[in-house]
Amino acid sequence: MSAPACRNADPALFFPAYGVPLSDLQIRAAKELCAACPVRQECLAIAVRSDESDGIWGGTTPIERRRMRVQLARMDQGAELARAVVSGEGPQVLQGLRPAVVHHLFAMGWNAERIGAALQLAPGEIQAARAMAARSLAFLAFMERHCPKSWS
Ligand code: SF4
Repeated sequence: MSAPACRNADPALFFPAYGVPLSDLQIRAAKELCAACPVRQECLAIAVRSDESDGIWGGTTPIERRRMRVQLARMDQGAELARAVVSGEGPQVLQGLRPAVVHHLFAMGWNAERIGAALQLAPGEIQAARAMAARSLAFLAFMERHCPKSWS
Protein backbone atom coordinates (compact mmCIF):
# COMPACT_ATOMS: atom_id res chain seq x y z
CA MET A 1 0.00 0.00 0.00
CA SER A 2 1.26 3.50 -0.81
CA ALA A 3 1.38 5.98 2.04
CA PRO A 4 -1.24 8.74 1.96
CA ALA A 5 0.11 12.23 1.29
CA CYS A 6 -1.60 13.55 4.43
CA ARG A 7 0.11 11.12 6.82
CA ASN A 8 2.24 13.86 8.38
CA ALA A 9 -0.11 16.76 7.79
CA ASP A 10 -1.91 18.67 10.50
CA PRO A 11 -5.38 17.03 10.80
CA ALA A 12 -6.84 20.51 11.30
CA LEU A 13 -6.08 21.16 7.65
CA PHE A 14 -8.54 18.46 6.63
CA PHE A 15 -10.98 18.62 9.51
CA PRO A 16 -11.96 21.98 10.98
CA ALA A 17 -12.88 22.37 14.62
CA TYR A 18 -16.47 21.48 15.43
CA GLY A 19 -18.88 24.04 14.01
CA VAL A 20 -16.15 25.94 12.14
CA PRO A 21 -16.45 25.88 8.35
CA LEU A 22 -13.41 25.08 6.22
CA SER A 23 -11.79 28.26 4.95
CA ASP A 24 -10.98 28.67 1.25
CA LEU A 25 -7.29 28.72 2.14
CA GLN A 26 -7.63 25.48 4.08
CA ILE A 27 -9.55 23.82 1.25
CA ARG A 28 -6.96 24.89 -1.31
CA ALA A 29 -4.03 23.63 0.78
CA ALA A 30 -5.71 20.29 1.55
CA LYS A 31 -6.69 19.80 -2.08
CA GLU A 32 -3.10 20.43 -3.16
CA LEU A 33 -1.91 17.63 -0.90
CA CYS A 34 -4.66 15.32 -2.13
CA ALA A 35 -3.78 16.04 -5.76
CA ALA A 36 -0.39 14.41 -5.23
CA CYS A 37 -1.67 11.55 -3.10
CA PRO A 38 -1.12 8.01 -4.39
CA VAL A 39 -4.34 6.74 -2.80
CA ARG A 40 -6.53 9.64 -3.81
CA GLN A 41 -8.99 7.63 -5.89
CA GLU A 42 -9.60 5.04 -3.18
CA CYS A 43 -9.88 7.78 -0.56
CA LEU A 44 -12.49 9.62 -2.58
CA ALA A 45 -14.50 6.52 -3.44
CA ILE A 46 -14.59 5.33 0.17
CA ALA A 47 -15.62 8.79 1.41
CA VAL A 48 -18.44 9.02 -1.14
CA ARG A 49 -19.63 5.49 -0.46
CA SER A 50 -19.60 5.94 3.31
CA ASP A 51 -21.16 9.40 3.07
CA GLU A 52 -18.37 11.19 4.95
CA SER A 53 -20.01 14.49 5.72
CA ASP A 54 -17.01 16.29 7.22
CA GLY A 55 -13.62 17.39 6.04
CA ILE A 56 -11.61 17.00 2.88
CA TRP A 57 -11.33 13.48 1.48
CA GLY A 58 -9.82 12.56 -1.85
CA GLY A 59 -9.54 16.23 -2.74
CA THR A 60 -13.23 16.98 -2.30
CA THR A 61 -15.31 19.04 0.08
CA PRO A 62 -18.46 17.70 1.76
CA ILE A 63 -20.64 19.61 -0.72
CA GLU A 64 -18.79 18.13 -3.70
CA ARG A 65 -19.18 14.63 -2.29
CA ARG A 66 -22.88 15.19 -1.65
CA ARG A 67 -23.32 16.08 -5.33
CA MET A 68 -21.53 12.86 -6.27
CA ARG A 69 -23.84 10.81 -4.04
CA VAL A 70 -26.85 12.48 -5.62
CA GLN A 71 -25.45 11.54 -9.02
CA LEU A 72 -25.20 7.88 -7.94
CA ALA A 73 -28.66 7.86 -6.37
CA ARG A 74 -30.21 9.35 -9.49
CA MET A 75 -28.91 6.53 -11.65
CA ASP A 76 -30.73 4.05 -9.38
CA GLN A 77 -33.91 6.13 -9.25
CA GLY A 78 -33.75 6.46 -13.03
CA ALA A 79 -33.88 2.69 -13.46
CA GLU A 80 -37.08 2.53 -11.43
CA LEU A 81 -38.68 5.40 -13.30
CA ALA A 82 -37.70 3.94 -16.66
CA ARG A 83 -39.51 0.72 -15.73
CA ALA A 84 -42.58 2.79 -14.86
CA VAL A 85 -42.36 4.56 -18.24
CA VAL A 86 -42.11 1.22 -20.03
CA SER A 87 -45.11 -0.16 -18.19
CA GLY A 88 -47.15 2.85 -19.27
CA GLU A 89 -47.59 4.42 -15.83
CA GLY A 90 -46.54 7.80 -17.21
CA PRO A 91 -44.50 8.92 -14.20
CA GLN A 92 -43.39 12.50 -13.83
CA VAL A 93 -39.69 12.68 -14.71
CA LEU A 94 -38.03 15.67 -13.11
CA GLN A 95 -35.22 17.29 -15.05
CA GLY A 96 -32.51 16.04 -12.67
CA LEU A 97 -33.56 12.45 -13.27
CA ARG A 98 -33.93 12.77 -17.00
CA PRO A 99 -30.40 11.58 -17.95
CA ALA A 100 -30.75 8.42 -15.89
CA VAL A 101 -34.22 7.65 -17.23
CA VAL A 102 -33.14 8.26 -20.83
CA HIS A 103 -30.09 6.05 -20.32
CA HIS A 104 -32.14 3.20 -18.86
CA LEU A 105 -34.77 3.44 -21.59
CA PHE A 106 -32.07 3.11 -24.25
CA ALA A 107 -30.65 0.16 -22.30
CA MET A 108 -34.12 -1.43 -22.38
CA GLY A 109 -34.11 -1.21 -26.16
CA TRP A 110 -36.13 1.94 -26.76
CA ASN A 111 -35.02 4.28 -29.54
CA ALA A 112 -34.69 8.05 -29.42
CA GLU A 113 -38.00 8.63 -31.17
CA ARG A 114 -39.97 6.53 -28.72
CA ILE A 115 -38.22 8.08 -25.73
CA GLY A 116 -38.86 11.56 -27.06
CA ALA A 117 -42.55 10.81 -27.47
CA ALA A 118 -42.90 9.24 -24.01
CA LEU A 119 -41.01 11.98 -22.16
CA GLN A 120 -41.91 14.82 -24.48
CA LEU A 121 -38.31 15.62 -25.25
CA ALA A 122 -36.75 17.12 -28.37
CA PRO A 123 -33.87 15.22 -30.02
CA GLY A 124 -31.37 17.76 -28.65
CA GLU A 125 -32.65 17.23 -25.12
CA ILE A 126 -32.29 13.48 -25.47
CA GLN A 127 -28.74 13.92 -26.72
CA ALA A 128 -27.89 16.22 -23.81
CA ALA A 129 -29.41 13.74 -21.35
CA ARG A 130 -27.35 10.92 -22.83
CA ALA A 131 -24.16 12.95 -22.52
CA MET A 132 -24.90 13.66 -18.86
CA ALA A 133 -25.74 10.01 -18.23
CA ALA A 134 -22.41 9.02 -19.78
CA ARG A 135 -20.62 11.16 -17.18
CA SER A 136 -22.62 9.55 -14.38
CA LEU A 137 -21.86 6.09 -15.75
CA ALA A 138 -18.15 6.92 -15.83
CA PHE A 139 -18.42 7.95 -12.19
CA LEU A 140 -20.30 4.75 -11.32
CA ALA A 141 -17.50 2.77 -12.95
CA PHE A 142 -14.93 4.75 -10.98
CA MET A 143 -16.79 3.95 -7.75
CA GLU A 144 -17.05 0.25 -8.57
CA ARG A 145 -13.35 0.14 -9.39
CA HIS A 146 -12.18 1.81 -6.21
CA CYS A 147 -14.89 0.99 -3.67
CA PRO A 148 -17.38 -1.59 -4.96
CA LYS A 149 -20.95 -1.39 -3.72
CA SER A 150 -20.58 -4.92 -2.35
CA TRP A 151 -18.09 -3.59 0.22
CA SER A 152 -20.66 -1.33 1.83
S1 SF4 B 1 -6.50 11.84 -0.88
FE1 SF4 B 1 -7.16 11.13 1.13
S2 SF4 B 1 -5.43 10.01 1.95
FE2 SF4 B 1 -4.68 11.26 0.26
S3 SF4 B 1 -4.00 13.19 1.14
FE3 SF4 B 1 -6.12 13.49 0.56
S4 SF4 B 1 -7.32 12.97 2.39
FE4 SF4 B 1 -5.24 12.12 2.69
